[in-house]
Amino acid sequence: MPQRIYLDWNATAPMRPEARTAITDAMVDWANPSSIHADGRAAKAMLEGAREDVAAALGCRARDVVFTSGGTEALTLGLHGTMFERRFVSAIEHDAVLASVPEARRLPVTQDGIVDLDTLRDAVAGEPALVAVMHANNETGAIQPIEDIAEIVADADGFLLVDAVQTVGKLALPSADMVTMSGHKVGGPPGIGAMIVRDRSRLNAVQKGGGQERGLRGGTENIPAAVGLAAALKAAQNDWLTEARRRHNRLEEMVKEARGEVFAEGIDRLPNTSLIRLPGAPASTQLMQFDLAGFSVSSGAACSSGKVGAGHVLAAMGVPASMAGEAIRVSTGWSTTDEDVDAFADAWLDLAERKRAA
Ligand code: PLP
Repeated sequence: MPQRIYLDWNATAPMRPEARTAITDAMVDWANPSSIHADGRAAKAMLEGAREDVAAALGCRARDVVFTSGGTEALTLGLHGTMFERRFVSAIEHDAVLASVPEARRLPVTQDGIVDLDTLRDAVAGEPALVAVMHANNETGAIQPIEDIAEIVADADGFLLVDAVQTVGKLALPSADMVTMSGHKVGGPPGIGAMIVRDRSRLNAVQKGGGQERGLRGGTENIPAAVGLAAALKAAQNDWLTEARRRHNRLEEMVKEARGEVFAEGIDRLPNTSLIRLPGAPASTQLMQFDLAGFSVSSGAACSSGKVGAGHVLAAMGVPASMAGEAIRVSTGWSTTDEDVDAFADAWLDLAERKRAA
């Protein structure tokens, strides 16, 4: 069996060894951090230590960090904890947003996948509103102009929620009323995430339970996962991003030379993400062929059903379904090597040549 090459880091990043060690250590002695006995107090200290470390790594205040079970829960608590009648979400948000507030008005994006600022400005004028825009898109890697968006929303006295699930550990934390992140995207464990809430007075508790996380997220805290997340963020260096950019540039050049297509090309994008199209090859066929050849890539957004679909992101960018259905996503991480990406490029070229010959 050939060694597998994992190129699906935007779906889940493999756990960092530092996180694994920290979790194992934390599993030994812990108790309920709400208990007042010595074991409970030690557990509380562990939890608060993890919070301090997460805050230090993100560059925010520890008291603004609210642990959740992941990105989806953080987004849900934000979307439903803010009591605005009017809600706007970008058309390229993750399903964790779109399915949570299906009634929200969708903000269009340009053909490069960037939120249209003029439409946003017109939409938020008048009554204060909630606006949810992701920092970078999980499929194309397109980085949104969050500073401009924040200014527009603040001018209208609105509330800006930024989904930073794909950018934490890669880009500086965006400035917004609330930012969300997820542990399993940054080399931490699954089952943990966080929301960073700068002004708690603007957010109501959706999930009250026992009043944990200063009343914003009830339920006994997942200390081993919080400690693992803190260790992963502490270990995360973003020096690999320069290398990633070089590798992806080379891959994309090759794709274009072979008459393939790169989506959201030429805009500010995550350096580890390429959404590429092989004309004439349905994404499902590509995924199967690459899987057999030992490569884990995806067709954009991974979802629980494992379905392969054209997806709402490319549709929102005006890409016809026939073309969108031929796109696959290659996403890399800190342990990806030149050899990994070059081997995939060879496999892609091979498939492109076979398609052409067929
Ligand atoms: N937001 C984005 C941009 C994502 O890519 C994902 C996961 O794919 C989520 C939210 C959901 O995060 P989680 O899996 O931690 O619930």
